[in-house]
Amino acid sequence: MPERGEPTVYESSIGGPLLWPADEPWPHCCLPDEQAMQAGDSEPASSAMVPVLQVFKKDAPGPWWSAGADLLQLVWCPNVHIDPPVPHEDVAPVVEVRWRLAGDVGDVLDAPPPPVRQEDEDYGFSPRACTLTAVHLIDFPSVFELPEELGAGVERLVGETGGAGEDVITRVGGCKFGGWPSWGITDPYEVRCRTCDSVMPLLFTVASDDTTGITVGRWGDLRIFACPVELGHGYWFDVQ
Ligand SMILES: [Zn+2]
Ligand SMILES: [Zn+2]
Repeated sequence: MPERGEPTVYESSIGGPLLWPADEPWPHCCLPDEQAMQAGDSEPASSAMVPVLQVFKKDAPGPWWSAGADLLQLVWCPNVHIDPPVPHEDVAPVVEVRWRLAGDVGDVLDAPPPPVRQEDEDYGFSPRACTLTAVHLIDFPSVFELPEELGAGVERLVGETGGAGEDVITRVGGCKFGGWPSWGITDPYEVRCRTCDSVMPLLFTVASDDTTGITVGRWGDLRIFACPVELGHGYWFDVQ
């Protein structure tokens, strides 16, 4: 659960300062974006990305951590790209992911460089600083992703737990590690690794949220899928 605050680099956060090695280059985006296009700039200067989140393993232990990491960090470009390259689906923010061992970070970067172009804060790509409190829960997939006999059972559970027809147990909303993907635009489909064709499970969801000031898509979710065989095979970023 995010809450506006002043997280330190040593805390899990959204839009907060990252535990980033001072000697590691800060990610920049050099793709053409809407603002540059409107300004008629065909070769825009690369623009610094902004912190979206960092999560320490102690706050969200689970199967998604490899032995070589206890900190996940995510930054994105605060500009809009109509047709970003693979592995970003259309309208998804352009994202960079880092896994680290927090203990390996020596000197910490004071402050990242500011972007030279940036959508208005209200656009939803400029996360406000929030602390994060982890809530551990069980997430169920959409009944449409399940075989009929299992789907019927989950549908019954939805009825028993939500009250007033509300579904509070499948594709649970909010920023989350793991769990099941939301499907707001399309019917469910399998996301497959472009290297080994394995079905990629959901790694992380960044949700639209008033508290964090994040809006992706039409009040949707940025979904990050990762290859279960080898992280090096890459990710898939899309919005639903
Ligand atoms: Zn960009
Ligand atoms: Zn793979």
